Amino acid sequence: MIRLQKGPLPEVLQSKGAEWTQEYLEAKGDPVKMTDTVKFRYRHPDVKAALRQESFNKCIYCESSVAFGETDHINPVSCCPEQIVEWANLGLVCKECNTHKSDYYAPAEPLVNPFKEEPSDHLILLGDIAIRVPGSTKGLRTISQLNLNRTDLLQWRFLRIKRLEPLMDQWSAHAEGETKKILRQAIEDEAADNAEYAATVRGYLSQVPGWNQSRR
Ligand SMILES: [Zn+2]
Repeated sequence: MIRLQKGPLPEVLQSKGAEWTQEYLEAKGDPVKMTDTVKFRYRHPDVKAALRQESFNKCIYCESSVAFGETDHINPVSCCPEQIVEWANLGLVCKECNTHKSDYYAPAEPLVNPFKEEPSDHLILLGDIAIRVPGSTKGLRTISQLNLNRTDLLQWRFLRIKRLEPLMDQWSAHAEGETKKILRQAIEDEAADNAEYAATVRGYLSQVPGWNQSRR
């Protein structure tokens, strides 16, 4: 998980958000009024496109790239129906994180929200595993609820680091100079916000001897 900035409010939510919310609240408990259209307004293609853009086509929680992805309500609609199309309450997620998160809602004991806080204050990516920052109960809950050490994620994070090794070997072997700078930039691109499992790559780089000392 990395820190994310909420993108601009999509125009369709700006113009229709209040109306869609009202419509949803009025239809609640009325199966005739609660049509799929009313229920899933938040799946509007413009909203989805904006969500994909702000999270670089990655799940906001586990950073897996998603071909299409699902829309998560950070505060679940079952508890906060008035936030059905609230922009700050929406995020792009993978199916697995969405399933694990389910209807988790505990205002006094929230999960890490990458739009509101720095995830690395709560989560350490050490190799392929996610560990809570000592003392962070928010980190503990987030890893547990989202199952951030599920087998598929461990495998993908491991492969992510393995694929970086040849480039790291080249960088390490080169003397200071322009070539080393180019290699360094290529490695930094692998840790950029838009890179898959960027937090894992950053965690790995923080352990590489000489990496932090050799900044240009
Ligand atoms: Zn995910």
